[in-house]
Order: sequence, then structure tokens, then C-alpha cells
Amino acid sequence: MNKKLKLETKCIHSGWTPSNGGPRQIPIFQSTTFKYDSADEMGKLFDLESSGYFYTRLQNPTNDAVAARIADLEGGVGAILTSSGQAATFYSIFNICEAGDHFICTSEIYGGTFNLGGVTLKKLGIDCTFISADASDEELNAAFRPNTKLVFAESISNPALVVLDIERFAKAAHAHGVPLIVDNTFATPVNCRPFEWGADIVTHSTTKYMDGHATQVGGCIVDSGNFDWNAHKEKFPGLTTPDDSYHGIIYTEKFGKLAYITKATSQLMRDLGSIPSPFNCFLLGVNLETLPLRVERHCSNALAIARFLQSHPKIAAVHYPGLPGDTYYDLAQKYMPNGTCGVISAELKGQRESAVRFLDSLKLASIATHVADAKTCVLHPASHTHRQMTDQQLRDAGISPGLIRLSIGIEHIDDLLEDMEQALEKA
Ligand SMILES: *Cc1c(COP(=O)(O)O)cnc(C)c1O
Repeated sequence: MNKKLKLETKCIHSGWTPSNGGPRQIPIFQSTTFKYDSADEMGKLFDLESSGYFYTRLQNPTNDAVAARIADLEGGVGAILTSSGQAATFYSIFNICEAGDHFICTSEIYGGTFNLGGVTLKKLGIDCTFISADASDEELNAAFRPNTKLVFAESISNPALVVLDIERFAKAAHAHGVPLIVDNTFATPVNCRPFEWGADIVTHSTTKYMDGHATQVGGCIVDSGNFDWNAHKEKFPGLTTPDDSYHGIIYTEKFGKLAYITKATSQLMRDLGSIPSPFNCFLLGVNLETLPLRVERHCSNALAIARFLQSHPKIAAVHYPGLPGDTYYDLAQKYMPNGTCGVISAELKGQRESAVRFLDSLKLASIATHVADAKTCVLHPASHTHRQMTDQQLRDAGISPGLIRLSIGIEHIDDLLEDMEQALEKA
């Protein structure tokens, strides 16, 4: 796509150029396999000697079109779609970390990522150090070890709404010869483009704003192509030494800037197989067309609700990085000046029980384990998403027992305000 096009235009046109008389919308290639005329032609595909489709676990035209759209939105060189955001997070780490390696992850992070780093990856021999996004440079630098392979963080954390100082984290990662991976799910490329601030890899749970209508679970990994794997050859043998499962090709030599994303597809997707269905990718592609319109409304509604809650006597605190006076307001102004996200957290006075009463009294907003959707939803992290955490772990993740998370949708603001008001009366 023409690099000069605005993001709103890319959301509609990137990734798919209709041929003369061809379908205008990205078609669903609901096929597992692709046919070739000669044995040799297909053999070359298996050796990564030529590009083309042969089996949907590796590549599919629908999936690729939508991946290309997201790569373009983030300003990356390539992307792959995965069957969930969790799969994207896992692949993004496992692509360059193996048993005996270590990575650094911010502690204010999505619960699933916290468990992945704190429990599951440890079982694979990959160690993780959690460190606050607010940690000082000294603390951050002290977390690196000789076997550290990457730093992982969220641009706006779910659900703590901590805004990452992307430049600072990128600088620290690069000083230690490793990439910064940013989960940009909440901000979306509409509000924040981490590559412009030094991040090397971006991940998404496309289940959230990108889909925006609660229709598909999916994920995405985007490669900026900027990290110089060869400059730190010894740290990344998976990319810089021969891959025996492909007759000894070396990803950095053969694919250059596309080394990381090609390995994720041709090795991890081949062996682990977390592909999204072409139908789900089609839904994602359609929903991406309206992403900028939706994000704008999510943000204006959320700011209005945040202001309302802030002035309400039953509310102890409101956390919303778009709200002047918020701890992360200045960082948000730097990295996402046009808006942050539609998610707000608020602490009700009276702790756990008031929060539950408030939730149960809402009429329009629904209780759902989902955020970043067109429909307003609410959640009580202490009794839902984070219930497996100890009180100390909750506090470390910036969550108090009376905290509620509101994912403000794109309904009319008057209806939302009325619903909040009546439910707060009963809280
Ligand atoms: C939801 C979410 C994930 C996990 O995505 P799934 O699609 O649910 O697997 C990862 N990161 C963030 C920030 C999320 O909000």
C-alpha cells in the first residue's frame, strides 16, 4: 500500500486489491489445501524456495490479506494472524526464547500473559522477571541477565491502564542487545504506533477493538523489521544459525528484515498450529474497516464517563489515562495524543460488596469477560479475571478489591450516563 495514505484509508484498502471483475471484499478462502500442476513446484514450497499456498496451517490467502492490513496499520514489514491473542503472545516470545533463556515482562499486564510468563513458560525452561512499567532505569537495567532475550510490555496495560514509556523501555532493551515487544491491544494502531517509538515487535489480541463486535477470538504478531538480529548473533541462534528442519536455511540470511516473522510462520505455526480460521479472519478484516470510527467514539464516551465517575460521591478513584490528573496522563499525551482506549477502571467506596451491587444493578451495560467491544461491559477483576491471584499479586498488578473495570462501548453517551447513575444509586 501507498505509505502516504492515512490510517483511516488503510483500514479499508490495505491488504486486498481487487482484480478486474474480482470480489471487492476480501473473499473467504475456506480451503485447507491448494493445488499444483507439478510435484516440483510444490516441493519448492516445502523448502521455502518459493512462496505460495499449500496448506492453510502455514498460509491462507484470506488470513494473509488481513495480516497485511494490520502490518500496514502498524507500519511493519510483515505480520501473522494467530487463533488467539494468547497464541500471539506465546509465539512472539517462543520465537526467540528457548529452554535456559530469560525475558523481562512488565508486571502490570494482562492476566493471561502473567500466567504464561509466571507459570507455563517456566515449565518449558524459560524464566521471566516481572518488573513494573514504572520501575526506574536502574531497576530496569538490573533485571537483565546474560541470557535475557527480550522485553515484553503493553502500551496501555489491561486492566491497570498503565501507559508504557515505550522509548525508555526500547532504549533499555536495545542497550542490552534485545528487542522490545509491545502488546498494543488496547491502544490499537489508531491511537499508538509503538514502532515509531522504538518497539521492534507488536502483538495484538484482535479479539478486542480490532474485532470490536465480539465475533472472533484472534491474535496478531507484527514485525517492524528493524531489529538487527545479526548484530547480536549469539543471542538469537534460532534466527542466525541453520534450521535443520528446512535443510539448513538461515532465516536472517534468506529473509533479511522478514527473518523473525518468517520463522514464526514456517516453524512455530508449522509445529504448533494455532491458526485462525479463514472465516474468522474475514470477520476481522470487515470489522477493521470501521476501527478508526469506533475507537474515536470509544474514547470520547470513556472520557465523558470518567469525568462523571470522578465527580461521583460513591467513587473513591478513577483511573483513565485520558483524564487530566491521571498518573499516566502525560505519558498518554506523548504516546497517544488523540485518545487512549475505552476502558476505565474505578474504585468504589465500600470495597468488594459495593462493586458487586453496582454490577448487578446495571441495565444497559452487561457483565461480560470481555473488553473493547461495541457494547459496554463491566467486570470485577477481583472476582472474575484475576480471581486466581493472591491479594499481594493483585496489588502488584495495580488492582484493588473494589476495583471495577468498565469497557465503554459506542452507544449514545446519554444512555450510558443514565445507566451508570441509577446503578451507582443502588451500590
Ligand atoms: C485479551 C488480551 C490478550 C489475550 O487475547 P485473547 O484473544 O483473549 O487470547 C492479550 N493481551 C491483552 C492486552 C488482552 O487484552
